[in-house]
Amino acid sequence: MEIKSVRGMNDLFGVELEHWHYVESKIKKVFHSFGYSEIRTPALEKIEVFSGTVGDETDIVEKQMYQIITDSETYVLRPEGTASFMRAVLEHNLHGTGQPGRYFYYLPMFRHERPQKGRLRQFHQFGAELINDASPEADAELITVLDQIYKSFEVTEYRVRINSVGCIECRPPYKDKLKDFFQPKLNELCEQCQKRFERSPMRILDCKRESCRAIAKTAPLILSCICSSCKTHHERVKTCLTMAQVKFEEDPYIVRGLDYYTRTAFEFTSELLGAQDALGGGGRYDGLSSRFGKAPFPAVGFGLGMERLMIALQETKRLPQTIQTPSFFFSPLGDKAFELLFPLSLKLKRQGVWCEISYEKTKGLKWLLKQANRLNADFSLMIGDEELKNGSALLKNMKSGTQETLSITSLESELLRRATHAP
Ligand code: AMP
Repeated sequence: MEIKSVRGMNDLFGVELEHWHYVESKIKKVFHSFGYSEIRTPALEKIEVFSGTVGDETDIVEKQMYQIITDSETYVLRPEGTASFMRAVLEHNLHGTGQPGRYFYYLPMFRHERPQKGRLRQFHQFGAELINDASPEADAELITVLDQIYKSFEVTEYRVRINSVGCIECRPPYKDKLKDFFQPKLNELCEQCQKRFERSPMRILDCKRESCRAIAKTAPLILSCICSSCKTHHERVKTCLTMAQVKFEEDPYIVRGLDYYTRTAFEFTSELLGAQDALGGGGRYDGLSSRFGKAPFPAVGFGLGMERLMIALQETKRLPQTIQTPSFFFSPLGDKAFELLFPLSLKLKRQGVWCEISYEKTKGLKWLLKQANRLNADFSLMIGDEELKNGSALLKNMKSGTQETLSITSLESELLRRATHAP
Protein backbone atom coordinates (compact mmCIF):
# COMPACT_ATOMS: atom_id res chain seq x y z
CA MET A 1 0.00 0.00 0.00
CA GLU A 2 1.30 3.43 -0.93
CA ILE A 3 1.07 5.91 1.94
CA LYS A 4 0.66 9.50 0.83
CA SER A 5 0.47 12.84 2.62
CA VAL A 6 -2.90 14.13 3.81
CA ARG A 7 -4.85 15.88 1.02
CA GLY A 8 -4.23 19.61 1.08
CA MET A 9 -1.03 19.25 3.13
CA ASN A 10 2.15 19.58 1.12
CA ASP A 11 5.76 18.48 1.42
CA LEU A 12 8.27 21.22 0.69
CA PHE A 13 11.81 20.61 -0.50
CA GLY A 14 14.44 21.48 -3.11
CA VAL A 15 14.22 24.67 -5.16
CA GLU A 16 10.69 25.37 -3.93
CA LEU A 17 11.84 25.39 -0.32
CA GLU A 18 14.86 27.55 -1.25
CA HIS A 19 12.37 30.04 -2.67
CA TRP A 20 10.38 29.90 0.55
CA HIS A 21 13.53 30.66 2.55
CA TYR A 22 14.26 33.63 0.30
CA VAL A 23 10.75 35.00 0.74
CA GLU A 24 10.62 34.31 4.49
CA SER A 25 13.87 36.14 5.14
CA LYS A 26 12.75 39.21 3.17
CA ILE A 27 9.46 39.35 5.08
CA LYS A 28 11.27 39.02 8.41
CA LYS A 29 13.46 41.97 7.41
CA VAL A 30 10.36 44.11 6.86
CA PHE A 31 9.04 43.15 10.31
CA HIS A 32 12.42 43.86 11.84
CA SER A 33 12.62 47.37 10.41
CA PHE A 34 9.09 48.18 11.63
CA GLY A 35 10.03 46.96 15.13
CA TYR A 36 7.98 43.74 15.33
CA SER A 37 9.40 40.85 17.37
CA GLU A 38 8.55 37.21 16.81
CA ILE A 39 6.17 35.12 18.88
CA ARG A 40 5.58 31.37 18.44
CA THR A 41 2.59 29.59 19.89
CA PRO A 42 1.89 25.82 19.91
CA ALA A 43 0.07 24.16 17.00
CA LEU A 44 -2.38 22.58 19.42
CA GLU A 45 -4.70 24.69 21.56
CA LYS A 46 -7.69 23.98 23.77
CA ILE A 47 -10.88 24.36 21.74
CA GLU A 48 -12.05 27.24 23.95
CA VAL A 49 -9.33 29.45 22.45
CA PHE A 50 -11.38 29.56 19.23
CA SER A 51 -14.95 28.60 20.02
CA GLY A 52 -16.72 31.49 21.69
CA THR A 53 -13.97 33.93 20.71
CA VAL A 54 -13.58 33.86 16.93
CA GLY A 55 -17.35 33.50 16.46
CA ASP A 56 -19.32 30.25 16.54
CA GLU A 57 -21.05 30.86 13.21
CA THR A 58 -17.82 31.44 11.35
CA ASP A 59 -16.73 28.76 8.87
CA ILE A 60 -13.55 28.23 10.85
CA VAL A 61 -15.25 27.34 14.11
CA GLU A 62 -18.35 25.75 12.66
CA LYS A 63 -16.76 23.25 10.32
CA GLN A 64 -13.05 23.71 9.65
CA MET A 65 -11.28 22.86 12.90
CA TYR A 66 -9.32 19.63 13.23
CA GLN A 67 -10.13 18.30 16.66
CA ILE A 68 -8.26 15.91 18.91
CA ILE A 69 -10.45 14.54 21.63
CA THR A 70 -8.89 12.94 24.71
CA ASP A 71 -10.51 11.77 27.96
CA SER A 72 -10.75 15.16 29.54
CA GLU A 73 -10.09 17.77 26.85
CA THR A 74 -10.82 18.71 23.28
CA TYR A 75 -7.85 20.20 21.47
CA VAL A 76 -7.75 21.76 18.03
CA LEU A 77 -5.02 22.36 15.52
CA ARG A 78 -4.68 26.13 15.28
CA PRO A 79 -6.92 27.36 12.40
CA GLU A 80 -5.86 31.02 12.69
CA GLY A 81 -3.27 33.09 14.52
CA THR A 82 -5.00 35.94 16.32
CA ALA A 83 -6.97 33.96 18.91
CA SER A 84 -3.85 31.91 19.81
CA PHE A 85 -1.89 35.14 20.04
CA MET A 86 -4.51 36.64 22.34
CA ARG A 87 -4.43 33.52 24.55
CA ALA A 88 -0.63 33.91 24.85
CA VAL A 89 -0.81 37.67 25.51
CA LEU A 90 -3.28 37.14 28.33
CA GLU A 91 -1.39 34.16 29.75
CA HIS A 92 1.91 36.07 29.92
CA ASN A 93 0.38 39.47 30.64
CA LEU A 94 2.15 40.93 27.61
CA HIS A 95 -0.36 43.77 27.54
CA GLY A 96 0.15 44.54 31.25
CA THR A 97 2.56 47.44 30.75
CA GLY A 98 -0.06 49.39 28.86
CA GLN A 99 2.63 50.25 26.31
CA PRO A 100 2.26 49.45 22.61
CA GLY A 101 3.68 46.03 21.77
CA ARG A 102 4.50 44.84 18.24
CA TYR A 103 4.59 41.12 17.44
CA PHE A 104 4.76 38.97 14.36
CA TYR A 105 4.34 35.24 13.87
CA TYR A 106 5.05 32.76 11.12
CA LEU A 107 3.13 29.56 11.69
CA PRO A 108 1.27 26.75 9.93
CA MET A 109 -2.53 26.93 10.15
CA PHE A 110 -4.93 24.00 9.76
CA ARG A 111 -8.39 24.21 8.26
CA HIS A 112 -10.54 21.36 7.04
CA GLU A 113 -11.51 22.98 3.74
CA ARG A 114 -12.01 21.63 0.24
CA PRO A 115 -8.52 21.94 -1.27
CA GLN A 116 -8.06 23.84 -4.53
CA LYS A 117 -5.47 26.20 -6.03
CA GLY A 118 -4.41 28.56 -3.22
CA ARG A 119 -6.57 26.77 -0.66
CA LEU A 120 -4.89 24.15 1.49
CA ARG A 121 -5.64 22.29 4.68
CA GLN A 122 -2.24 23.08 6.11
CA PHE A 123 -1.09 26.51 5.01
CA HIS A 124 1.34 29.07 6.40
CA GLN A 125 0.63 32.54 7.60
CA PHE A 126 2.78 35.46 8.51
CA GLY A 127 0.84 37.61 10.91
CA ALA A 128 1.41 40.88 12.73
CA GLU A 129 -0.31 42.18 15.83
CA LEU A 130 0.00 45.59 17.47
CA ILE A 131 -1.46 45.76 20.98
CA ASN A 132 -2.24 48.62 23.37
CA ASP A 133 -2.64 51.22 20.67
CA ALA A 134 -6.14 52.43 19.82
CA SER A 135 -5.03 55.09 17.37
CA PRO A 136 -5.98 55.14 13.69
CA GLU A 137 -2.26 55.59 13.03
CA ALA A 138 -1.72 52.05 14.37
CA ASP A 139 -4.25 50.69 11.85
CA ALA A 140 -2.54 52.60 9.06
CA GLU A 141 0.83 51.23 10.22
CA LEU A 142 -0.38 47.63 9.97
CA ILE A 143 -1.77 48.20 6.47
CA THR A 144 1.52 49.89 5.52
CA VAL A 145 3.55 46.93 6.82
CA LEU A 146 1.49 44.49 4.75
CA ASP A 147 1.77 46.78 1.74
CA GLN A 148 5.54 47.05 2.26
CA ILE A 149 5.87 43.27 2.28
CA TYR A 150 4.41 43.04 -1.23
CA LYS A 151 6.33 46.13 -2.34
CA SER A 152 9.59 44.56 -1.15
CA PHE A 153 9.06 41.87 -3.83
CA GLU A 154 8.11 44.52 -6.37
CA VAL A 155 4.62 43.04 -6.61
CA THR A 156 2.22 45.68 -7.91
CA GLU A 157 -0.69 43.53 -9.05
CA TYR A 158 -2.83 43.82 -5.93
CA ARG A 159 -5.50 46.04 -4.46
CA VAL A 160 -5.80 47.33 -0.92
CA ARG A 161 -9.44 47.48 0.18
CA ILE A 162 -10.40 49.08 3.44
CA ASN A 163 -13.62 49.50 5.36
CA SER A 164 -14.93 50.22 8.84
CA VAL A 165 -17.16 47.63 10.46
CA GLY A 166 -18.14 50.01 13.25
CA CYS A 167 -18.05 49.38 16.98
CA ILE A 168 -20.28 47.90 19.68
CA GLU A 169 -22.27 51.15 19.69
CA CYS A 170 -23.06 51.56 16.01
CA ARG A 171 -22.88 48.01 14.66
CA PRO A 172 -26.02 46.57 16.34
CA PRO A 173 -28.36 49.22 14.83
CA TYR A 174 -26.67 48.71 11.45
CA LYS A 175 -27.20 44.94 11.73
CA ASP A 176 -30.89 45.56 12.41
CA LYS A 177 -31.10 47.79 9.37
CA LEU A 178 -29.47 45.07 7.25
CA LYS A 179 -31.87 42.46 8.57
CA ASP A 180 -34.82 44.66 7.66
CA PHE A 181 -33.36 44.91 4.17
CA PHE A 182 -32.67 41.18 3.70
CA GLN A 183 -35.82 39.87 5.43
CA PRO A 184 -38.15 40.12 2.38
CA LYS A 185 -35.41 38.66 0.14
CA LEU A 186 -34.47 35.77 2.41
CA ASN A 187 -35.70 33.06 0.02
CA GLU A 188 -33.51 34.39 -2.76
CA LEU A 189 -30.31 34.10 -0.68
CA CYS A 190 -28.12 30.99 -0.71
CA GLU A 191 -28.51 28.42 2.05
CA GLN A 192 -25.35 29.67 3.78
CA CYS A 193 -26.56 33.28 3.81
CA GLN A 194 -29.97 32.22 5.13
CA LYS A 195 -28.12 30.73 8.10
CA ARG A 196 -26.03 33.89 8.48
CA PHE A 197 -29.12 36.09 8.46
CA GLU A 198 -30.03 35.80 12.14
CA ARG A 199 -26.66 36.31 13.86
CA SER A 200 -24.20 37.51 11.22
CA PRO A 201 -26.18 39.44 8.61
CA MET A 202 -23.07 41.47 7.70
CA ARG A 203 -21.44 38.35 6.34
CA ILE A 204 -24.09 38.16 3.63
CA LEU A 205 -22.34 41.20 2.13
CA ASP A 206 -19.20 39.08 1.82
CA CYS A 207 -20.83 36.14 -0.02
CA LYS A 208 -19.12 35.24 -3.28
CA ARG A 209 -22.28 33.90 -4.99
CA GLU A 210 -23.50 36.04 -7.88
CA SER A 211 -27.16 35.86 -6.80
CA CYS A 212 -26.36 37.01 -3.23
CA ARG A 213 -24.02 39.69 -4.55
CA ALA A 214 -26.73 41.09 -6.78
CA ILE A 215 -29.07 41.44 -3.80
CA ALA A 216 -26.34 42.85 -1.53
CA LYS A 217 -25.58 45.56 -4.11
CA THR A 218 -28.54 47.63 -2.98
CA ALA A 219 -28.17 46.91 0.76
CA PRO A 220 -27.59 49.82 3.16
CA LEU A 221 -23.85 50.36 3.57
CA ILE A 222 -22.07 50.56 6.88
CA LEU A 223 -20.08 53.69 6.18
CA SER A 224 -23.27 55.72 6.14
CA CYS A 225 -24.34 54.21 9.48
CA ILE A 226 -21.22 54.27 11.68
CA CYS A 227 -21.04 56.60 14.68
CA SER A 228 -19.10 59.86 14.59
CA SER A 229 -16.07 58.55 16.51
CA CYS A 230 -15.80 55.52 14.17
CA LYS A 231 -16.13 57.93 11.23
CA THR A 232 -13.34 60.19 12.57
CA HIS A 233 -11.17 57.12 13.16
CA HIS A 234 -11.80 55.87 9.64
CA GLU A 235 -11.05 59.24 8.03
CA ARG A 236 -7.76 59.46 9.91
CA VAL A 237 -6.74 55.93 8.79
CA LYS A 238 -7.28 57.05 5.19
CA THR A 239 -5.30 60.27 5.71
CA CYS A 240 -2.39 58.32 7.21
CA LEU A 241 -2.44 55.82 4.34
CA THR A 242 -2.23 58.70 1.90
CA MET A 243 0.73 60.10 3.86
CA ALA A 244 2.31 56.62 3.76
CA GLN A 245 1.77 56.51 -0.02
CA VAL A 246 -0.28 53.34 0.20
CA LYS A 247 -2.75 53.17 -2.66
CA PHE A 248 -6.10 51.99 -1.31
CA GLU A 249 -9.76 51.92 -2.16
CA GLU A 250 -12.77 51.99 0.09
CA ASP A 251 -14.83 48.81 -0.12
CA PRO A 252 -17.97 48.73 2.04
CA TYR A 253 -18.34 44.99 1.33
CA ILE A 254 -15.22 44.03 3.30
CA VAL A 255 -16.57 42.62 6.56
CA ARG A 256 -13.97 39.87 7.23
CA GLY A 257 -15.15 36.40 8.14
CA LEU A 258 -14.47 36.58 11.86
CA ASP A 259 -16.65 38.12 14.52
CA TYR A 260 -14.05 39.92 16.57
CA TYR A 261 -13.28 42.87 14.32
CA THR A 262 -14.15 46.45 15.23
CA ARG A 263 -13.68 49.59 13.16
CA THR A 264 -10.95 49.07 10.56
CA ALA A 265 -11.14 45.97 8.37
CA PHE A 266 -8.95 45.49 5.32
CA GLU A 267 -8.11 43.00 2.64
CA PHE A 268 -5.41 42.77 -0.01
CA THR A 269 -6.60 40.96 -3.12
CA SER A 270 -4.91 40.01 -6.36
CA GLU A 271 -6.25 38.83 -9.68
CA LEU A 272 -3.08 36.75 -10.05
CA LEU A 273 -4.58 34.26 -7.61
CA GLY A 274 -7.74 33.22 -9.46
CA ALA A 275 -10.82 32.32 -7.41
CA GLN A 276 -9.04 32.46 -4.03
CA ASP A 277 -8.00 36.06 -4.53
CA ALA A 278 -7.23 37.11 -0.92
CA LEU A 279 -3.51 37.73 -0.42
CA GLY A 280 -3.92 38.85 3.16
CA GLY A 281 -6.14 40.81 5.45
CA GLY A 282 -6.90 41.90 8.95
CA GLY A 283 -8.35 44.59 11.11
CA ARG A 284 -8.85 46.01 14.56
CA TYR A 285 -10.05 43.68 17.31
CA ASP A 286 -10.38 45.77 20.47
CA GLY A 287 -13.03 43.49 21.90
CA LEU A 288 -11.34 40.13 21.56
CA SER A 289 -9.84 39.96 25.06
CA SER A 290 -13.30 40.39 26.61
CA ARG A 291 -14.38 37.26 24.75
CA PHE A 292 -11.71 35.53 26.86
CA GLY A 293 -13.38 36.99 29.94
CA LYS A 294 -10.72 39.68 30.43
CA ALA A 295 -10.71 43.47 30.34
CA PRO A 296 -10.65 44.84 26.82
CA PHE A 297 -7.55 46.47 25.37
CA PRO A 298 -6.91 47.76 21.87
CA ALA A 299 -5.29 45.59 19.22
CA VAL A 300 -4.97 45.47 15.46
CA GLY A 301 -3.44 42.82 13.20
CA PHE A 302 -3.25 41.03 9.87
CA GLY A 303 -2.57 37.60 8.39
CA LEU A 304 -0.82 36.96 5.11
CA GLY A 305 -0.97 33.64 3.28
CA MET A 306 2.48 32.40 2.28
CA GLU A 307 1.22 29.96 -0.36
CA ARG A 308 -0.77 32.72 -2.04
CA LEU A 309 2.19 35.08 -2.01
CA MET A 310 4.30 32.32 -3.56
CA ILE A 311 1.70 31.89 -6.33
CA ALA A 312 1.79 35.64 -7.02
CA LEU A 313 5.61 35.65 -7.11
CA GLN A 314 5.72 32.62 -9.39
CA GLU A 315 3.11 34.01 -11.78
CA THR A 316 5.02 37.27 -12.12
CA LYS A 317 8.44 35.57 -12.21
CA ARG A 318 9.71 37.47 -9.20
CA LEU A 319 11.45 34.53 -7.58
CA PRO A 320 15.24 34.36 -7.95
CA GLN A 321 16.40 32.26 -10.88
CA THR A 322 19.53 31.01 -9.20
CA ILE A 323 19.67 29.24 -5.92
CA GLN A 324 22.76 28.69 -3.80
CA THR A 325 25.09 26.00 -5.12
CA PRO A 326 28.44 24.60 -3.85
CA SER A 327 31.54 26.67 -4.43
CA PHE A 328 33.71 23.56 -4.76
CA PHE A 329 33.48 19.91 -5.58
CA PHE A 330 36.56 17.97 -4.47
CA SER A 331 37.55 14.86 -6.43
CA PRO A 332 40.27 12.93 -4.61
CA LEU A 333 41.62 10.10 -6.80
CA GLY A 334 43.07 7.64 -4.29
CA ASP A 335 43.55 7.40 -0.51
CA LYS A 336 46.50 9.80 -0.30
CA ALA A 337 44.59 12.55 -2.09
CA PHE A 338 41.58 11.90 0.16
CA GLU A 339 43.76 12.33 3.29
CA LEU A 340 44.73 15.74 1.99
CA LEU A 341 41.38 16.94 0.68
CA PHE A 342 39.06 15.63 3.40
CA PRO A 343 40.51 17.86 6.20
CA LEU A 344 40.73 20.78 3.76
CA SER A 345 37.05 20.39 2.81
CA LEU A 346 36.11 20.49 6.51
CA LYS A 347 38.27 23.57 7.04
CA LEU A 348 36.40 25.39 4.29
CA LYS A 349 32.99 24.22 5.52
CA ARG A 350 33.84 25.42 9.01
CA GLN A 351 34.53 28.85 7.54
CA GLY A 352 31.14 28.92 5.85
CA VAL A 353 32.19 27.88 2.35
CA TRP A 354 29.99 25.23 0.73
CA CYS A 355 32.40 22.54 -0.34
CA GLU A 356 31.42 19.03 -1.47
CA ILE A 357 33.78 16.06 -1.49
CA SER A 358 33.28 12.67 -3.07
CA TYR A 359 33.53 9.63 -0.78
CA GLU A 360 33.60 7.32 -3.82
CA LYS A 361 36.75 5.21 -3.96
CA THR A 362 36.26 3.40 -7.26
CA LYS A 363 34.99 6.00 -9.74
CA GLY A 364 37.13 7.77 -12.33
CA LEU A 365 37.51 11.46 -13.13
CA LYS A 366 34.76 11.50 -15.74
CA TRP A 367 32.17 10.30 -13.21
CA LEU A 368 33.41 12.79 -10.61
CA LEU A 369 33.13 15.71 -13.02
CA LYS A 370 29.57 14.64 -13.77
CA GLN A 371 28.79 14.90 -10.06
CA ALA A 372 30.30 18.39 -9.90
CA ASN A 373 28.07 19.33 -12.84
CA ARG A 374 24.97 17.76 -11.32
CA LEU A 375 25.47 19.77 -8.14
CA ASN A 376 26.16 22.92 -10.15
CA ALA A 377 29.43 23.54 -8.30
CA ASP A 378 31.40 26.64 -9.33
CA PHE A 379 34.72 24.77 -9.31
CA SER A 380 35.88 21.20 -9.35
CA LEU A 381 39.20 20.39 -7.66
CA MET A 382 41.04 17.22 -8.61
CA ILE A 383 44.10 15.60 -7.09
CA GLY A 384 45.48 12.29 -8.46
CA ASP A 385 48.85 10.52 -8.23
CA GLU A 386 50.45 12.79 -10.82
CA GLU A 387 49.40 15.97 -8.94
CA LEU A 388 50.55 14.55 -5.59
CA LYS A 389 53.98 13.91 -7.09
CA ASN A 390 54.18 17.53 -8.31
CA GLY A 391 52.65 19.03 -5.17
CA SER A 392 49.84 20.50 -7.25
CA ALA A 393 46.03 20.36 -7.72
CA LEU A 394 43.89 20.84 -10.80
CA LEU A 395 41.10 23.40 -10.49
CA LYS A 396 38.43 23.52 -13.16
CA ASN A 397 36.02 26.42 -13.46
CA MET A 398 32.78 24.57 -14.23
CA LYS A 399 31.09 27.60 -15.79
CA SER A 400 33.86 28.67 -18.20
CA GLY A 401 35.58 25.30 -18.55
CA THR A 402 39.04 26.81 -17.95
CA GLN A 403 41.57 24.91 -15.83
CA GLU A 404 44.47 26.03 -13.72
CA THR A 405 47.12 24.33 -11.63
CA LEU A 406 47.41 25.39 -7.99
CA SER A 407 50.15 24.60 -5.52
CA ILE A 408 49.07 22.30 -2.69
CA THR A 409 50.89 24.47 -0.16
CA SER A 410 48.68 27.50 -0.81
CA LEU A 411 45.49 25.60 -1.66
CA GLU A 412 43.34 26.86 1.22
CA SER A 413 43.98 30.56 0.61
CA GLU A 414 43.64 30.17 -3.18
CA LEU A 415 40.28 28.46 -2.79
CA LEU A 416 39.01 30.96 -0.23
CA ARG A 417 39.86 33.73 -2.69
CA ARG A 418 37.65 32.11 -5.32
CA ALA A 419 34.74 31.08 -3.09
CA THR A 420 31.42 32.73 -3.97
CA HIS A 421 30.24 32.81 -0.39
CA ALA A 422 33.58 33.52 1.24
CA PRO A 423 33.54 34.12 5.00
P1 AMP B 1 -7.93 34.59 7.12
O1 AMP B 1 -7.38 34.21 8.45
O2 AMP B 1 -8.99 33.65 6.62
O3 AMP B 1 -8.31 36.03 7.00
O4 AMP B 1 -6.74 34.41 6.09
C1 AMP B 1 -5.64 35.27 6.00
C2 AMP B 1 -4.89 34.91 4.75
O5 AMP B 1 -4.43 33.56 4.82
C3 AMP B 1 -5.75 34.96 3.50
O6 AMP B 1 -5.77 36.24 2.96
C4 AMP B 1 -5.05 33.98 2.60
O7 AMP B 1 -3.93 34.61 1.98
C5 AMP B 1 -4.52 32.95 3.55
N1 AMP B 1 -5.40 31.74 3.63
C6 AMP B 1 -6.56 31.62 4.30
N2 AMP B 1 -7.06 30.38 4.18
C7 AMP B 1 -6.20 29.68 3.42
C8 AMP B 1 -6.13 28.33 2.95
N3 AMP B 1 -7.06 27.44 3.25
N4 AMP B 1 -5.07 27.97 2.17
C9 AMP B 1 -4.11 28.86 1.86
N5 AMP B 1 -4.10 30.14 2.29
C10 AMP B 1 -5.13 30.56 3.06
